[in-house]
Amino acid sequence: MLSTSTQILRLSQGQLNLLEACPRKFQHTYLEKLNSPSNPEQEERLTLGSRFHLLMQQREMGLPIDSFLQADAQLQSWMLGFADAAPEILTAASDNQTFRESEHYRTLQLQDYLLTVVYDLLIADNQQAQILDWKTYPKPPNKRKLESNWQTRLYLYVLAETSDYLPEKISMTYWFVQSEGKPQNIKFNYSTAQHAQTGKKLNQLLSQLTNWLENYQKNQQFPQVVEGSKNCDYCQFAKRCDRIQAIEEAVKESLPNFDSIQEVLLNPIN
Ligand code: SF4
Repeated sequence: MLSTSTQILRLSQGQLNLLEACPRKFQHTYLEKLNSPSNPEQEERLTLGSRFHLLMQQREMGLPIDSFLQADAQLQSWMLGFADAAPEILTAASDNQTFRESEHYRTLQLQDYLLTVVYDLLIADNQQAQILDWKTYPKPPNKRKLESNWQTRLYLYVLAETSDYLPEKISMTYWFVQSEGKPQNIKFNYSTAQHAQTGKKLNQLLSQLTNWLENYQKNQQFPQVVEGSKNCDYCQFAKRCDRIQAIEEAVKESLPNFDSIQEVLLNPIN
């Protein structure tokens, strides 16, 4: 949630993604709270995802999880698959030198914003720090897309800024527990060059946000994406933004021109 109570705005990776994708959508969603309710299918997916996260957290805290697993075949199959694919993640090191914490929360102040991250699991020792994230949707996204997502960029950035680890000693791994076959992972190593690049991009985006917020106080709307942008195609604010027509035209253009299609004569049946 965007909070203005202390004059410092709290921002999460989801808000940064939205801000970068379309500032106007950020305005409608977070400043005007105009989000439409999710459909039952989305709700169900979200609930199942939260239950898996909760289960992993309980397990990490050493609390019993058997009754949850017995009551839910889906959770049980995800957990078994994950235990099979990555037993080393589920087993705590016996050396007492390793820090592990699920739902690990960190913040970093940058300009007038408090950037917040929550790592599903953080495993750190005197050599390296690993951020782990569980995903319960079926298909892993394209790796480049995931790399540019603010979850990846912000999570790595905040850990490098708020710890003694060099960027080269930090990694982030997504585990897709519901992939076809067995769980799959996508790992991102970090570097000093990437860290500098993310810092620059973040500072630019936050400065822009400050300007847009100032203008918004003077009744100026946040900028929209350019007309014809794919972002508008499935946006719930298309009507409000007067982008419906553009979408209809795009649909029309994608349909064949029936006037130019020659009639096919069927052979008469004897
Ligand atoms: S319809 Fe387009 S311009 Fe309007 S909020 Fe959605 S993405 Fe942004």
